[in-house]
Amino acid sequence: MRKKIIAGNWKMNMTITEAKALCDTLIPISNTDEVDVVFCVPSIDISTVVEKVKGTDISVGAENLYFEDKGAYTGEISADMLVDAGVKYVIMGHSERRGYFHETDADINKKAKKALEKGLTPIICCGESLEQREMGIYFEWIAMQIKAAFQGISAADAAKCVIAYEPIWAIGTGKTATAEQAEEVCGYIRKVIEEVYNKETAEKIRIQYGGSMNSGNCKELLSKPNIDGGLIGGASLKEEFAKIVHYNA
Ligand code: 13P
Repeated sequence: MRKKIIAGNWKMNMTITEAKALCDTLIPISNTDEVDVVFCVPSIDISTVVEKVKGTDISVGAENLYFEDKGAYTGEISADMLVDAGVKYVIMGHSERRGYFHETDADINKKAKKALEKGLTPIICCGESLEQREMGIYFEWIAMQIKAAFQGISAADAAKCVIAYEPIWAIGTGKTATAEQAEEVCGYIRKVIEEVYNKETAEKIRIQYGGSMNSGNCKELLSKPNIDGGLIGGASLKEEFAKIVHYNA
């Protein structure tokens, strides 16, 4: 039985001052061991949020890392820096990073390998554009993204990863994929993992849905057999996040 993982992706929101206030609001109402709860936060907020979640079951994630160990890479953050700061998860391949910052499948593969080497859990994002969905090529697209991200990663390491299926047309648009649409693709991603590795790995890996998930639609989405959690943007910045965490209460 896979444990659900509910992660907030704060994106480029929350100054340190705002992050402290959000933690004070959210931590008491979203601390639980029923599901894995993760706050993925801007790097400048990491130390503050790690301090705030101490003594709770909540983990902290980063929104990016660089795949080199150290050196002259101005502005970048290494896996060792994240580990040392108390980070457990790291998002990679988000469509915003692919789109605005030209992150490629090859970069994502290197980032995933580096994260795993250092004991961080990658949250690897994939998802199609509206145009790709309308053209009916979304399965091929997602299979390509997944195969590229996992190239050269062992089955044992792959099983530790989290995949987030985030259809680009559903992000920040208020237009959620229906539970059936999300389940269809999450089930398909599991088949791709089975094809690349084996059934055991496919059964272990956790697959989240992301894209306008909120307190109203989370229960239906999270009840689907292949949807093991959510990666939540807008609704992770308010009390509503706790309602998603407790979707089954
Ligand atoms: P929204 O929940 O704001 O649509 O964002 C989803 C997302 O991109 C999470 O990574």
